[in-house]
This record gives sequence, C-alpha cells and structure tokens, in this order.
Amino acid sequence: MRREIFEPEHEALRASFRAWLDKEVVPHHLEWEAAGIVPHDLFADAGRHGFLGMAVPEEYGGGGVDDFRYNQVIGEEVQAAGVGGAGLGLSLHNDICLPYFLAYCTDEQRARWLPGIVSGELVTAIAMTEPAIGSDLASMGTTAIRDGDAYVVNGSKTFITNGINADLVITAVKTDPSQKHKGMSLLVLERGMPGFERGRNLEKLGLHSQDTAELFFTDVHVPVDNRLGTEGEGFLQLVHNLPQERLSIAVAGVAAARAAFGMTLDYVKERQAFGQPVGSFQNSRFVMAELATEIEVTQAFVDRCVTALGEHALTAEEAAMAKWWATELQKRTTDRCLQLHGGYGYMLEYPIARAYADARITTIYGGTTEILKEIIGRSLGL
Ligand SMILES: Cc1cc2nc3c(=O)[nH]c(=O)nc-3n(C[C@H](O)[C@H](O)[C@H](O)COP(=O)(O)OP(=O)(O)OC[C@H]3O[C@@H](n4cnc5c(N)ncnc54)[C@H](O)[C@@H]3O)c2cc1C
Repeated sequence: MRREIFEPEHEALRASFRAWLDKEVVPHHLEWEAAGIVPHDLFADAGRHGFLGMAVPEEYGGGGVDDFRYNQVIGEEVQAAGVGGAGLGLSLHNDICLPYFLAYCTDEQRARWLPGIVSGELVTAIAMTEPAIGSDLASMGTTAIRDGDAYVVNGSKTFITNGINADLVITAVKTDPSQKHKGMSLLVLERGMPGFERGRNLEKLGLHSQDTAELFFTDVHVPVDNRLGTEGEGFLQLVHNLPQERLSIAVAGVAAARAAFGMTLDYVKERQAFGQPVGSFQNSRFVMAELATEIEVTQAFVDRCVTALGEHALTAEEAAMAKWWATELQKRTTDRCLQLHGGYGYMLEYPIARAYADARITTIYGGTTEILKEIIGRSLGL
C-alpha cells in the first residue's frame, strides 16, 4: 500500500543509508555476529555520513531537524538489510538515548556531549534494568548518595544494549533510597570513571552482534554536573521518553515482519514439493495472505503514531499499543515464515532463522507485552 508519511528528503536519506549499509555493514555482519559486537568505529563512520544525531541543533554539529521520520527510515532499512543485530545500537543511540540529552542537558552539558554523540565518538547507552528488577523499575537498588559536588554510586545493571561500546551511560539511580518513584534520578556515567566496570558481554539467543552487557558500580564518584535534569525526577523523565522508545521498537518490528515476509515469498515460489511450488498450496497462500494483510494494517497504525509523535500528540497508551502489537506481529510472522521454509528455515545460513531468533526479545525489552497491556488496560479505567 502506498505510504503517505514520507517526503522526498526521507527517501533520499533511505537511499544513502541503504547504500552505506550495503557497503559498510552487510559484508561484515556475520563476522560481527560471531564476535558478539560491532566495532566502536562503526558509530563514527555512521556519524561521518550524517546518520547520527539528526535531531541535534546544527551548532553542535547535528542535522538540526527534529523529525522522527529520519529515525524511522534508518530503523526500517536496518531490518530490510537483515542486520538487526548491528543496527540496534544505532537506533538505541539516536532514538532512545539522544532524546534524554536533548531534553535535559544544561548548556554546559550540551557543549560537552552533543558534538561527540553526533560524530559517533561518544556511543551512548541507557541503564535501567538490574539483576533483581526489570519491569518494576521503581524498586531498583543502585544508589547514588550525595557527597559534596559528587554522587557516590554503588550497584549494578544488566542486559544493557551498547553496554561494552558505550562511552556515556545514562544510568537510573536512587538518589533517595527511602523513596520509590520519587527517589530516582538520571546520572551520566562516563567510560573510565574509577569504580565503573563492565561485566560480561552476555551470550544471547539472537541479536548476536549487539553487545548486551553487565555494568558494575563500586563507589563511583560521579560529579553532580553529570546529572540529567532535576534530582528526584528520574522516573518522570523515563516515563516522558518511553513513547518514542516504544515507537522505535514498533517501527523495527513491522519492518522486520515485512523483511521476513519478502524473503519467504521468494522462497515459496522457488521451492517445489509434490511437483509444485510450496507457495501454491492453499495453506501457504492463506498464511501469506494473512501476513500481508496484518503487515499493511500494522504499518498504517505505526505510521499514524509517527505522525502523532511529530505533532507531540502520541500518548503513552498509543505507543504501548504500537509496540506490543508490532512486536507480536514480528514474532508471529517470523515463526510462520520459518515454518514455510521447512527444515532450511532452521539453518542459520538462511536469513529467516536469524530473523526468528532476533525477533524473540522484542516483546520483552522496552516494556513487556504484559506491562504494555497493563498500561492500556489502566487507561480504560480497569
Ligand atoms: C537483548 C536485551 C537488551 C536489553 N536492553 C536494555 C537496555 O539497553 N537498557 C535496560 O535498562 N534494559 C534493557 N533490557 C532489559 C529489558 O528491558 C528487561 O528484560 C524487561 O524490561 C523485562 O524485565 P525483566 O527481564 O526483569 O523481567 P521481569 O520484570 O522479571 O518479568 C518477568 C515476566 O513477568 C511478567 N510481569 C512482570 N510484572 C508484571 C505485571 N505487573 N503484570 C503482568 N506480568 C508481569 C513480565 O511481563 C515477564 O513476562 C534488555 C534486555 C535484553 C534481553
């Protein structure tokens, strides 16, 4: 279906980003999948080509255009190229971490961090989850106790995307451990701060080229000047930024479903069984017809959410709907498409196998499907 959301400048970015992916990412992807990480320099290369910090004001080297459709194009092309593991870090940097720096930095912090975020020399991450808590964020245990001009941070985080490559980690801490939501603040921890250690780069079911790591903090002295925004408002800041984070995951979800569908359509036209293409069996035709319909319907809703985000009108509930629906679609689509590949679908040399494994986390991170349904259900007065 013709999409009405993009202007020629978005399509221009799509073409240049896709060309960059084909040259700089696709040829190395399997090597990075085996290594469990992309090179740090990939971010600087993306920055040199203008694919980072599009929303950052020009005075700090950015694109000066606060238009999520550029982020959407990047998220979609990463999935179309089948390099979701390598691309996730770029989207996390642009779509999820950058908004905190744009919304909450002082002028001094902007000058200190934004140029490096745009150039890709400073890779970002956001650390909320801890070994003992994920969904229940307000119960986090990492503390930051004020000591003069610094906070002394103790605790640990886990499952942190860009965890090894990150130079700046937006870290959710308890500045008042006696409080739940009201005791939380956001501090930027920087690579090399004494007491800030990386743990394992965790082995995962999918998204292998994405570094997902443990972080440990032992008496890390973090200057008060590294706090983002007001002390005690961390939870509100997270809640404020979550709609864009969830929409970013939804954009990738529907794009990943579309990519899985495309590769499967090619396959079922080629593969023969009982003297005919497997795609010509009624079951295959019905499965593909259902998926084609679900993808188009979902795309229309996700595009509408992107427009609403641009109008500063996207609600938390709408973002929750987009995220749970699009990622469940991704999971369902990759599963059904793998089935249509038969045994070859289980072989990692076939892209559908990797797409299936990569899809599994998407209904969990950024808010589980269950938590998102809670948010929507509560808004209905239930
Ligand atoms: C690859 C990967 C990348 C990640 N990247 C990041 C990152 O960059 N930064 C970061 O901070 N975190 C990250 N995470 C963590 C992720 O956001 C959490 O795993 C997720 O929020 C779920 O938390 P949990 O794992 O503690 O599950 P739990 O909260 O323990 O949930 C377990 C189960 O219980 C259900 N459940 C929990 N509470 C309720 C409830 N009230 N009602 C109904 N069901 C409920 C959940 O839906 C889930 O099914 C990442 C995780 C992975 C695996």
